[in-house]
Amino acid sequence: MTSESLRFEHETLAQRVRFAAGGATEALAEEVRRLGGERVMAIVTSRERTAPVLAALPVAVLHTDVVRHVPVEVAERARAVAAEHDADVLVCVGGGSTTGLAKAVALTTGLPIVAVPTTYAGSEATDVWGLTEGGRKTTGVDPRVLPRAIVYDAGLMLGLPVATSVASGLNALAHCVDSMWGPRSDPVDRALALEGIRALRTGLPRIETDPQGIGGREQTLYGAYLAAVAFASAGSGLHHKICHVLGGRFDLPHAETHAVVLPHVLALNAPAVPDLDARMAQAFAADSSLAGLRRLRGRVGAPRSLAELGLAEHDLSAAVAPILEAAPESNPVPVTAEVVETLLRHAWEGTEPDA
Ligand code: NAD
Repeated sequence: MTSESLRFEHETLAQRVRFAAGGATEALAEEVRRLGGERVMAIVTSRERTAPVLAALPVAVLHTDVVRHVPVEVAERARAVAAEHDADVLVCVGGGSTTGLAKAVALTTGLPIVAVPTTYAGSEATDVWGLTEGGRKTTGVDPRVLPRAIVYDAGLMLGLPVATSVASGLNALAHCVDSMWGPRSDPVDRALALEGIRALRTGLPRIETDPQGIGGREQTLYGAYLAAVAFASAGSGLHHKICHVLGGRFDLPHAETHAVVLPHVLALNAPAVPDLDARMAQAFAADSSLAGLRRLRGRVGAPRSLAELGLAEHDLSAAVAPILEAAPESNPVPVTAEVVETLLRHAWEGTEPDA
């Protein structure tokens, strides 16, 4: 993993991607037309925010029953609505929860999705679906859930509060970092992830200082897209396994959990892979990747502790065994119970690791 061997297999997922600041309505209508859509099921969380975006579409049904982490019963209700209205294209406008529900419908119906993301979660660029049942989150990979097209319109992000933008942008950054050592990480993934780090490192502080500026939003969207493409190919590394366990078991907010856990995983792994650390440091324009992440987190006011996200101290121990079970073999350092316990404790307390 540490030297760039050029013997690898990489699959590029087939998807149309449009960056169209201020032009989502027309771009979305064109993408739906390309798919021959005449009866669109639009999945959204906010009617007001999304009405102008849907204005040029043949909407058969507007579905707003979206719940985070996609509970199975919510997915079943959405599938029934799609069947009842004889939908032929799914359009989702919203964050990862909204995209996730469209994927759950596509998984069983095969309906094509056009995604219009309004956070930096990146689900729109992956073929990964997730469903939650009885406090347990199940994920899987299926080509049917990969949106056929994505329309990115930075103008739709202006209402995303700065704190949510920061957490979501750091979630995207976590995709980049985990893609450096994920189980299927290859040189193409790492090239995308490094450019993603650079774009997020420049975009996020601009959102902080000018939340209504298109430039910072657009850079961050670009970084988030690259991050998700890299991540879809590289697969979940230790960071994502930890967040997956925490999110599924304790219903913690997705993006904020990623934002808190990331420095702890980076501090654990980066010293064991000095050449990857050096490349990430360059992308962060810092002396080390951790120093770069620390500086960025300080500039944007990142969330710090799992305690502040509502995780009870006594829940920490329950997370250790499932994390150990899920930890990928590819992780740069061996993952023991002690390693996980210490990492979780520091993340819970919000002890910022030394750069
Ligand atoms: P989310 O979709 O729940 O959105 C967070 C909040 O932001 C919600 O309250 C939403 O209504 C609000 N919001 C969204 N866009 C807004 C806007 N433009 N303006 C104002 N408010 C806005 O959270 P998320 O972090 O985007 O996504 C998290 C979910 O996505 C998790 O379930 C996670 O597992 C999933 N996910 C999946 C993948 C994948 O590849 N399958 C990748 C990343 C995330």
